[in-house]
Amino acid sequence: MTYKKIILRRGKEESLDRFHPWVFSGAIGHADNNIEEGDLVTVYTSDGRLIGNGHFQIGSIAVRILTFDSTTIDATFYERRLHEAYQLRLALDLQREDNNAFRLVHGEGDFLPGLVIDLYAGTAVVQAHSPGMHYARHQIAQALTSLPCVKNVYYKSETTLPYKAQLEQHNDYLVGSYDTDIAIENGMKFHVDWLRGQKTGFFVDQRENRSLLEKYARSRNVLNMFCYTGGFSFYALRGGAKLVHSVDSSAKAISLTNENVNLNFPDDERHQAFAEDAFKFLEKMPANLYDLIILDPPAFAKHKSALRNALVGYRKVNAKAFEKIGPGGILFTFSCSQAVSKEQFRLAVFSAAAQSRRRVRILHQLTQPADHPISIYHPEGEYLKGLVLYVE
Ligand code: SAH
Repeated sequence: MTYKKIILRRGKEESLDRFHPWVFSGAIGHADNNIEEGDLVTVYTSDGRLIGNGHFQIGSIAVRILTFDSTTIDATFYERRLHEAYQLRLALDLQREDNNAFRLVHGEGDFLPGLVIDLYAGTAVVQAHSPGMHYARHQIAQALTSLPCVKNVYYKSETTLPYKAQLEQHNDYLVGSYDTDIAIENGMKFHVDWLRGQKTGFFVDQRENRSLLEKYARSRNVLNMFCYTGGFSFYALRGGAKLVHSVDSSAKAISLTNENVNLNFPDDERHQAFAEDAFKFLEKMPANLYDLIILDPPAFAKHKSALRNALVGYRKVNAKAFEKIGPGGILFTFSCSQAVSKEQFRLAVFSAAAQSRRRVRILHQLTQPADHPISIYHPEGEYLKGLVLYVE
């Protein structure tokens, strides 16, 4: 198969020779006429050496490379990559009787740049982050049906496709239809609202960190700040917490949290949920009420330009937690901003700790689980950072 051609400027192949899958627009010397967003293209060096095939788009990342050779990108290609992705999840033992929610495809980390797929009890929720993946959605859905774990395929890209592309971004079932929205993670049940929920409906990336929290929850008073669908809350209840308070500014998130807690712990009086702004809640809550606090805010920095404000945000929210957490308290604090590095996040938390003048030690340094793999050639794939801190 021949695709339209992109020729790089002299010397601009260095990162691609190290398998980094992005061609930036500034690296392009020549592009064939009539290349449209979402087209498959073949990229060559200035002296005519083939780099690989990928999806073209308008923007600072101009091409996302899918293969570093001349492989045709067709249904067979997607089937092969999806099977490889599934094999890895089987090796991670994520498809079990007591666990049927996990990330099946993590973009560049599964050598499918621009594609994210989460699986919830047989429904694959597909998100395209590039026009090329948007156009390939039917091929991808078809390929998904060859996996034994997939019954339905729901396409949801209303918030992830580049704004400039102006594609028709309808969300719909591409295969099958609605059956159940109850998925299981480590034996805990939860509803996933992929129709209206944030992202694909549930944050599978906190699975292992929730398990760790469960181990610390016994007899503690827990505050789950930015709770969304309540994941950390029901693990804390199972871990034997004395009380669990869940807080989120979204009323919808609070009702989802209540539903999920009820699914697992019906009428458990240890749990209460509050629809309130985090900063207001932290400001007015009494000191020493909580001795286990989770802070898992939304990405404060969606882009590099917002970095400074994001770091101030992380410092402020953590400073409140250090000020108010009871002695011997444990703080689980996270950042899911890709633009914020591990070091920058740690520095923000360090400044917050110093402000409180308390003795603080790092017990664990957390990250994303293995179903969100990071290609060694694409370090940008690492985004979730967490610290578990012991506060005296
Ligand atoms: N911890 C969750 C994921 C958190 S996502 C989990 O394990 O699933 C971030 C959440 O923060 C969203 O639900 C969003 O509604 C909430 N949020 C955003 N801004 C907020 C604010 N100022 N105060 C409280 N919650 C906020």
